[in-house]
Amino acid sequence: MVLVSTASPLSSVGDGALTRLLDELSEPRWRAQQIRRAAWQPYIDSFRDVRQLPHRLRDALSEKLAFSTIERIVETEADSGSTVKLLCHLSDGLTIETVAMESPATGRQHRRATVCVSSQVGCAVGCPFCATGRMGLRRSCSAAEIVDQVRAAGAALHRRGFGPLTHVVYMGMGEPLANADATIESLHILTRAAQISARRITVSTSGVVPGIDRLRREAPPVTLAVSLHAASDELRNRLVPLNRRYPLRMLLEGAQRYASTTHRRITFEWCLIGGVNDSLTQAEALRTLAWENRAHVNVIPMNRIAGSPWGPPDSATTQAFLRALRGVRTTMRDTRGEAADAACGQLRAALDERRTLRSDGTLSAPRPLVTN
Ligand code: SAH
Ligand code: SF4
Repeated sequence: MVLVSTASPLSSVGDGALTRLLDELSEPRWRAQQIRRAAWQPYIDSFRDVRQLPHRLRDALSEKLAFSTIERIVETEADSGSTVKLLCHLSDGLTIETVAMESPATGRQHRRATVCVSSQVGCAVGCPFCATGRMGLRRSCSAAEIVDQVRAAGAALHRRGFGPLTHVVYMGMGEPLANADATIESLHILTRAAQISARRITVSTSGVVPGIDRLRREAPPVTLAVSLHAASDELRNRLVPLNRRYPLRMLLEGAQRYASTTHRRITFEWCLIGGVNDSLTQAEALRTLAWENRAHVNVIPMNRIAGSPWGPPDSATTQAFLRALRGVRTTMRDTRGEAADAACGQLRAALDERRTLRSDGTLSAPRPLVTN
C-alpha cells in the first residue's frame, strides 16, 4: 500500500510557517506565492513538477511539506466521463471518496463543475438509509484532507479536458458539522486560497445545532443545506437518529439564526423513501416548513443501498409528492452516476462489496472498476 506523506500539509500550512520555512532554506519570501499558486494548478502533481522553483528548493519542499494528504487509488467514470469518482487513501491507509461532476452550459444555466467532498471516514449519525452511516465513524478528516479532495477533483476534471471547478458541496461521507473545526478551516482555505466564492459552497448537515451556530459565527457565509427527511419528530427520530438530541424545533431555530445572519436561503434536503416519508401528509408539512423558513427544497429519490429493503417511490408517488410542494422552490437532485455506484456516499460501499473473503479469513484487494 502506498502511504502518503505525514509531513505538514501544503494545503493548510499557515503563511507564517511557510515564510519561516523559506527563511530556513535561505529562499526569498516571495516564493511563497509561487508555491501557493502551484498547489492549485490541476496539472501539477508534486513539488518536482513546479518548474518556476529551483531544483534545490523543490527537493527541500518535498521533504518538508506533503504536496497532498491524499493518494488517488481508484478512479471511476459515469455519464460518459462527466462524473468522476475518486477513491483515495489517507496517510493512515483509510479510504474516502470524492465525486466530481461536470455540467455543461445550457441556454439557461452557466457551466458548472461541482465536487462533492467527504468530511469524515464513516459517520456516527447512523441514518438507516445511508451507506456511510452503516460504516460507523472511523475518524474525522483534517482540513487539508478536505481541501486536497477539491484539488484532486480539479485535476481529475482537467485530465478529461474540462475547465476549473466552480462549486463545492460537503455531501460525501460524514457529518461536516460533527467535524466543525476542520470543516470551518477548510472553508476559509477554499474561499481565500482557492478563491471559490462562499455562495458556491454548500455545507450539508443532518442537524448538529451547535455546529450550525459555529458555522454562522466563524465561517464564510456558505449555503446551508439541512437534511430534513421528515417533518415530524416521530418520523425524524427514526430517519436521522441525531434528531433525538436536536429535535426539529431546535434545528429549525438554528437554521433561522443562520439564515438571518448570513442572508442566505436555507435548503431542505429530503431523501424520498418509498412508503416511509413519501406521504402527502409529510409533503404538506414540508411545504409549510419551507414557507415558514423561506427555504428551498431539494428532493433526492433514495439510492438503494445493500442490506436495506428501502428504495425510491414509484414515479407516480414521486410526482404526487412534488405536486404537493406547489409554490415552494423545489429541485430534484440529479442522481447522476447511479449506474456506476457513483452517488455520493455510495462509491466506498460499492467498492467494499467487490472484495471477496479469502479462505484464510482476510479480504482480497478491492477490484478497481477503472484505474488510471
Ligand atoms: N452528513 C451530512 C452530509 C453528507 S450526506 C448530511 O446528512 O446532510 C449528504 C446527503 O446525501 C444527505 O442529504 C443525505 O441524507 C443524502 N443521502 C444519504 N444516503 C442517501 C441515499 N441512500 N439516497 C439518497 N440520498 C442519500
Ligand atoms: Fe451521516 Fe449524513 Fe449519512 Fe446520516 S446521511 S449517516 S448524517 S453521512
